[in-house]
Amino acid sequence: MSKVKKINHVAIVVRDIEESLKFWETAMGLKLDHIEEVPSQASKVAFIPVGDSEIELVQPTTADSGMAAYLEKRGEGMHHLCVEVEDIEAKIQELREAGVRLINETPQVLPGRKMAFIHPKSTSGVLVELYEITAAG
Ligand code: ZN
Repeated sequence: MSKVKKINHVAIVVRDIEESLKFWETAMGLKLDHIEEVPSQASKVAFIPVGDSEIELVQPTTADSGMAAYLEKRGEGMHHLCVEVEDIEAKIQELREAGVRLINETPQVLPGRKMAFIHPKSTSGVLVELYEITAAG
């Protein structure tokens, strides 16, 4: 069975990153690594390392994106959990054979990583993202 390495990140959808950082930085004592504009997802993302994993605060930057619609409908909260695997194609194949419902049947290839989402119907209600890191750093 293809190996699951660790939790890579937990993504939280927020209305205002600065406001949310008051909790994660000021109250919790974590340190913001950087904030990145992600135009393809109409959002900006704050990356906060926690041990070997990260918390990502995702703030929609337009009113008409999928992320904005999610925020409007369900309010702030956990959006997805990302599990890093050794071989994403092998893991997707195993999941398919196990009857797991996938959102992405083939991984999306991005700089430094491949990713795919698993449907919450198969995961006790949590949107799960699979990551395979393809380049160091
Ligand atoms: Zn993610």
